[in-house]
Amino acid sequence: MARTVAQKITEEHLVEGRFAPGEEIGLRIDQTLTQDITGTMAWLEFEAIGAERVRTEASVSYVDHNLFQGGFEASDDHRFLQSAAARFGAYFSRPGNGICHQVHLERFGVVGKTLLGSDSHTCTAGALAMIGIGAGGLDVAAAMAGAPFFLKAPRIVEVRLTGSFQPWVSGKDVIFELLRRLTVKGGVGKLFEYAGPGLKALSVYERAAIANMGAELGATSSVFPSDERTREFLASQQREDAWRPLSADAGAACDETIEIDLGALAPLIACPHSPDNVKEVREVEGVKVNQVAIGSCTNSSLADMMTVAAMLRGKTVHPDVSLVIAPGSKQVVEEMARNGALADLIEAGARILESGCGPCIGMGQAPPSGGVSVRSFNRNFAGRAGTPDAQVYLASPAVCAAAALFGEIRLPSALGDPPQIALPQRVHIDDSSIIRPLPVEQAKRVEILRGPNIKPLPRRGPLPDSISGPIVLAAGDNITTDDIMPAAPHTLPLRSNIPAIAEHVFERLDASFARRLKEHGGFIVGGENYGQGSSREHAALAPMFLGLKAVLAKSFARIHMANLVNFGIVPLTFVDAKDYDRLSTGDVIEISGLRRQLQSGGAIAVKNITKGFELRARHNLTPRQVKVLLAGGLLNFLRPAEKPSAQQRDSSLRSE
Ligand code: SF4
Repeated sequence: MARTVAQKITEEHLVEGRFAPGEEIGLRIDQTLTQDITGTMAWLEFEAIGAERVRTEASVSYVDHNLFQGGFEASDDHRFLQSAAARFGAYFSRPGNGICHQVHLERFGVVGKTLLGSDSHTCTAGALAMIGIGAGGLDVAAAMAGAPFFLKAPRIVEVRLTGSFQPWVSGKDVIFELLRRLTVKGGVGKLFEYAGPGLKALSVYERAAIANMGAELGATSSVFPSDERTREFLASQQREDAWRPLSADAGAACDETIEIDLGALAPLIACPHSPDNVKEVREVEGVKVNQVAIGSCTNSSLADMMTVAAMLRGKTVHPDVSLVIAPGSKQVVEEMARNGALADLIEAGARILESGCGPCIGMGQAPPSGGVSVRSFNRNFAGRAGTPDAQVYLASPAVCAAAALFGEIRLPSALGDPPQIALPQRVHIDDSSIIRPLPVEQAKRVEILRGPNIKPLPRRGPLPDSISGPIVLAAGDNITTDDIMPAAPHTLPLRSNIPAIAEHVFERLDASFARRLKEHGGFIVGGENYGQGSSREHAALAPMFLGLKAVLAKSFARIHMANLVNFGIVPLTFVDAKDYDRLSTGDVIEISGLRRQLQSGGAIAVKNITKGFELRARHNLTPRQVKVLLAGGLLNFLRPAEKPSAQQRDSSLRSE
């Protein structure tokens, strides 16, 4: 039977189930990636699973999110991660080596492999014809220990590209066009497979930007075929052995098809405060800009940086603009240092940041109050940049560079023709910041180094049969994991300390949320697409620690729902979405016979004790997920005999 690229890769890795939309499948995972702010928990979870050594072909522990060592906490985390990688047989990418997705493309990606990462943008690897999936740290820890990854098989959407770009239009505009058409929840339950004659126009760097922001569509993954452009990229990395041709068979059927004529696209921009609030750049020309930030896992490649450097060469950044640039990897910085592009950027007035996530995760470079920031990043949720009332726009590196020069949003065509940039056929390879796994016997002797901020992993007991408590928060649509568990300079150092970071849950929306949830336990009510955004499992783990029992929402984002299940929190949706309007913060609700109701798969009766009515909810869980939930989470499911420590029991008692 004719098959798509996604079907070929998943079927090669299928260990359980049948690849049919909505059915649960188990996939063998070839590679994993973790980053520092999800990685500390992932490695603690790996230890709790009891595995001796990673069982994947390659597991890489990156340090890229919290590079600012403002106290001992981050430094201790980095030391812990390095020692855990050495102890358990993983690669370690040192702080400063670059953003996980960029470095993974450059140094680890292999055509046709599966990659599971504790970061929602793991889908970037789809640029190399890989199935890259973002997941919670516990799922990644289980995969590192050799377990399959379970998910519902997505519908496959063919994105058929025709034509070729007009000047100043790039890959970023392709994904903006999809976001404009489909919105941030338009990709839920779907995998986007790119095809068509327009592919020839797209370098691996542009494909990576597109695959990366599949996460913003809510998609399970994105994948490109492996062709001559893929071979060229891997050859430039002196890794041609990671290449093989891989394309869809003629006549392979997809569940849906979307057509995009590349020649019909104009430069696009996502306006505050959502990646799907997309307009043409010409519609917002003239908006004054205070800050421009270029980098992130979406647009920090050598091609992006060379384009920006060529645009800035011999010019000066507008005096009202702070231009910050974070190249995606040490390799990119080294190349720019060798070819002179770095000097062009510095001379033009750019502030060069360390290779890492930096401003994208709110680690520095917060815009001024009420200020406008134009960023080449992937997310512009309100407050994510660190300034609650900042207006953040997302655009291609070229549109960003033009804004930096003009001091306002302006079409880059105002600068004339696009620069012609020449990329090296072979980049200089320097893997000195990647520490390779130790031999088995040597690894066993490594001591894992923990600082005082690294606390034991909280766990809860099996799911009780009856849960009740107040609705602690009734939230709206599109609540992000940034809303739930903010990432900021004061919270990121606490990622290994759940009792401490839990105090900050929902602090941007409701300053007393953590205190109230801790007092009585309770429920959250949410609108559509609850838990979109980052894969951070702290958005489930910290509320679990505080006593969250269930979330009742109109719909959930995929990774967050999986994280809730992994930590024993019941995710339910309304049978009738209008019931959402009948619930208020403070209402006491009760669900009796919960275990039986979950197993039956039918409607679940939710009583509103305060207002005296009953509504019906349902779950959208697979039989396996129901078992995980009944056990009280994935760790209990994988290791049922494990006795929780005193601190872990404390969280369990409070929550039930
Ligand atoms: Fe880092 Fe931002 Fe990419 Fe997340 S989205 S991996 S914070 S650069």
